[in-house]
Amino acid sequence: MDLGIRGRRAIVCAASKGLGRGCAMALAREGVDVTLSARGAEALAATAAEIRAATGVAVQTVVADMATVEGRTALLAACPTPDILVTNAGGPAPGDFRNWTRDTWLAALDANMLGPIELIKATIDPMIAQQFGRIINITSGAVKHPIDVLGLSNGARSGLTGFVSGLARSVARHNVTINNLLPGAHETDRVKVTMAAMAAQRGSTPEAMKAERAKAIPAGRFGDAMDFGAVCAFLCSLQAGYMTAQNVLVDGGAYSGVY
Ligand code: NAD
Repeated sequence: MDLGIRGRRAIVCAASKGLGRGCAMALAREGVDVTLSARGAEALAATAAEIRAATGVAVQTVVADMATVEGRTALLAACPTPDILVTNAGGPAPGDFRNWTRDTWLAALDANMLGPIELIKATIDPMIAQQFGRIINITSGAVKHPIDVLGLSNGARSGLTGFVSGLARSVARHNVTINNLLPGAHETDRVKVTMAAMAAQRGSTPEAMKAERAKAIPAGRFGDAMDFGAVCAFLCSLQAGYMTAQNVLVDGGAYSGVY
């Protein structure tokens, strides 16, 4: 299926590895020119080279922390008027809320709530003016079923989710859609850290935790970044223009609620 977005420009944040990389690759395969950001130059350059070689689209890179004003300014200078924005950042570290200070919370909010909102604020009006825009926020299945050790993530992402729910409806008539994409358990560096934390808490090993978790997923396996990227590309398509303000789980059926 032609997704109708060839020649469009996308910003994909936190795209050197993991799910951001999967989204960038999937968009590039649809002919979208991509501007990628991450904090580490080496991994970012390697990912950009792979995407260029695989797809032939124009790929720009910006070494930037999307949780900071400076990082977002640099990213927007490289691509001031994207047609597509994919917000993403590393998730907050797991832990016990008794150990978290106000600064711990503010760092989580900067990365997983306020950073995405600032990027949306900077890019949405030109999308409205041109009557096309697609915004995807990578959040987490934890928005629907919170995970105890990931309290910072549960809190910050719920704030973004609530905000976006109102905003999406206010711009829908301009063919600007905003949807959140909720990963379940995908094989990335992030999952290794989470499995290690859960193992330490439960007196188990990361390998045992991973096997146990995979068994509990109806699909019987962890997802990968391309499973995730494919859904992102579809949500950015022309065909998905009537789909907005949704929280779309990509989790192999792990969330067992009906709604
Ligand atoms: P990852 O750790 O594998 O990759 C993170 C990428 O983000 C890396 O390229 C890193 O350089 C970049 N990055 C991190 N913080 C950044 C920042 N502030 N600015 C710019 N770049 C930054 O992570 P992932 O598994 O791809 O997860 C992506 C997001 O999805 C995270 O927020 C994570 O918490 C969330 N999530 C992932 C899963 C999963 O199964 N992988 C599940 C639920 C939620």
